[in-house]
Amino acid sequence: MVDTLFLDDWDALTRERDTRFAATLDRIFAYHPFYKDLLARAKLRRRDIKGVADLARLPVTTRRDFLANPHAFILTWPDGPTSDESSVWDVMYTNGSNGAPVPFASTSYDFMNILALNRNMLRLRGAREDDRILNLFPLTRHPHGAFARTMNAAAAFNLPVTAAMPGAPNARQPDIGNGLDKVLDIAQRTRPTILWGVPSYIRELVARADEKCVKLPWVRLVFASLDAFNEGMRADLTAGLRRLGAEDPQVSVSYGASEMQGSMVECVKGAGFHNPAPDQFCFEVVDPDTHRPLEDGEEGLLLLTHLDRRGTVMLRYASGDMGRLTRERCPHCGALTERIIGAPSHHDGFVKVSGRLIDPQALAELLLGTDEVADFQAIVEYEDMVGGVGGGKGRGKTGPRDRLRIRVAPTGTGLAGLSHMLAQRVEAVFEVTPVIEITSAQDPMLAGRGWRVRPLMDLRAKKRR
Ligand SMILES: [Zn+2]
Repeated sequence: MVDTLFLDDWDALTRERDTRFAATLDRIFAYHPFYKDLLARAKLRRRDIKGVADLARLPVTTRRDFLANPHAFILTWPDGPTSDESSVWDVMYTNGSNGAPVPFASTSYDFMNILALNRNMLRLRGAREDDRILNLFPLTRHPHGAFARTMNAAAAFNLPVTAAMPGAPNARQPDIGNGLDKVLDIAQRTRPTILWGVPSYIRELVARADEKCVKLPWVRLVFASLDAFNEGMRADLTAGLRRLGAEDPQVSVSYGASEMQGSMVECVKGAGFHNPAPDQFCFEVVDPDTHRPLEDGEEGLLLLTHLDRRGTVMLRYASGDMGRLTRERCPHCGALTERIIGAPSHHDGFVKVSGRLIDPQALAELLLGTDEVADFQAIVEYEDMVGGVGGGKGRGKTGPRDRLRIRVAPTGTGLAGLSHMLAQRVEAVFEVTPVIEITSAQDPMLAGRGWRVRPLMDLRAKKRR
């Protein structure tokens, strides 16, 4: 079996990719509801796509296409679940732009690939045979890859893992769901070397340990997702862990996606986000408006193609994120794969709130650039929407009024005037006065987001559909 992460050259990798991609394409042309139709309309036949070199002939699939009918992206096998290629192993859910869950199906065949790619993620991040993982992702209402794949990654690397199960106690099963102090007890008992979770939550855990004079000297790695992360957090986390007795703690940041059921990871800080399974995924960058392919190093819309999937399958899929790619062999770890250099940015488009356009990325930079803010989630909704659903009742002749609500987890406890200060800052830049709600990083809305954080959720979209 070849190790496709460290092949000799791109020709060798392309050959490996094309073999897998050919089998995937055979099935797409026969059984994929969305692409069968799209390819027919584009007048493309199976023989027109010989391998990854022909990808540019295919139209781009947008997130909007996927959200409109996620079930149409699952291969429909003619004779049911008779083989590992067709039997569904699990379905994970990603958040749609309005917060509604969107299914992403994996067959048994896919699950083996998921194990392999999660194993590669651990290799690239420098995991060792003597590591012990503490899974700090909370359970979510719908199955989400962040919690589940952390368990699977440990299995694939044959490492012990403890799920700390942070979160509010379950209403039916009150023993499920642990507060911060219980999670800290679990951390002490299981002596983890790797903390894996949402960065703001890990930061809160480290601060609590410091407060209680609890030591966590075994920790050498923190696996944090890129979303809702900034370099200040990295410095803060490593300084905090040193105070808890850790010798040389490192924070490894990743760029995760439900469409991968895993993450692109750094091997060392600043080395770029490595595609952990170049035999499974192919990345491209295109012009966001014309979809013309761009050269390596140029910033554009990131596209992901599944080369070797059997459940949910996507070709040239644009999640909406922008980034720059390099295909040079990584000078640090020697991997030959695509790497995203710099931080990818969300390009979900601006959101109109009370007649003003808000760039979610700019809002995130403003808030996370404020020392007092550890994490946040912004929501656009109608003023008469109670609890985020329904709405529209009792509106005046002028139509429903928009409201920008921002839930903020602060870094410290000196909160006097924080809401007012943040509201003023947001208003100065975006000309919209937000409602600021102070919460904590354990707030289910913040802690339950998993890999992919959308800084600004538009709940009004529920009504538009
Ligand atoms: Zn590397």
